[in-house]
Amino acid sequence: MALGPWSSDVLKPLGYEFPMLVKRGYHIHYRPLGGAFLRRPVVDVENGYLLIPMERGVRLTTGIEFAERDAPPTPVQIARTKPIARKLFPIDMEVDGEPWMGSRPCFADSLPIIGRSPRHENLWLDFGHGHIGFTTGPISGRLLADMMTGHTPVIDPAPYEARRFLMV
Ligand SMILES: Cc1cc2nc3c(=O)[nH]c(=O)nc-3n(C[C@H](O)[C@H](O)[C@H](O)COP(=O)(O)OP(=O)(O)OC[C@H]3O[C@@H](n4cnc5c(N)ncnc54)[C@H](O)[C@@H]3O)c2cc1C
Repeated sequence: MALGPWSSDVLKPLGYEFPMLVKRGYHIHYRPLGGAFLRRPVVDVENGYLLIPMERGVRLTTGIEFAERDAPPTPVQIARTKPIARKLFPIDMEVDGEPWMGSRPCFADSLPIIGRSPRHENLWLDFGHGHIGFTTGPISGRLLADMMTGHTPVIDPAPYEARRFLMV
């Protein structure tokens, strides 16, 4: 079971209540003005955004938004950041109609759940990778595969046990 931010939808009816929240984020692509181009991602730490050269154009990212996973998008950070980003790099028209929005599945201890489910012997869990699921996906999958096939786990699985959150 590896459904990222949707994992709780499937686990709740099975009696599992994990304290997972989402941190939402947005991005949108712009056409550069006057033939300008970026060779590398640029982060503006002070104002909390990135400009990244992509095939679709220059991508502007936002910081975190705390909101319900299924609440309507509120891309105010894009609107606030664009004028600031424009001073750094000449972005023009939006290429996309609406900003893209995604949800990062997060636990309070910033660790995912990886391993056998505590009350259903043949159910294996792998979700909650927060901000770094692209980066940690491969090692997470390797650890899960080791456990499912009875091999010595590539790393200690104890910190990722679902049991750490179970109240019941
Ligand atoms: C704005 C943003 C920026 C990010 N930046 C980075 C980054 O720079 N580096 C990094 O490492 N990570 C980053 N991440 C995190 C990364 O995207 C996630 O941690 C990662 O995608 C989690 O992978 P996953 O496979 O667990 O879940 P997901 O990628 O969310 O996949 C879950 C899948 O389950 C499917 N699904 C849901 N319900 C059902 C169902 N009932 N039946 C069948 N399928 C279902 C969904 O459609 C989805 O395809 C970012 C995330 C966001 C939102």
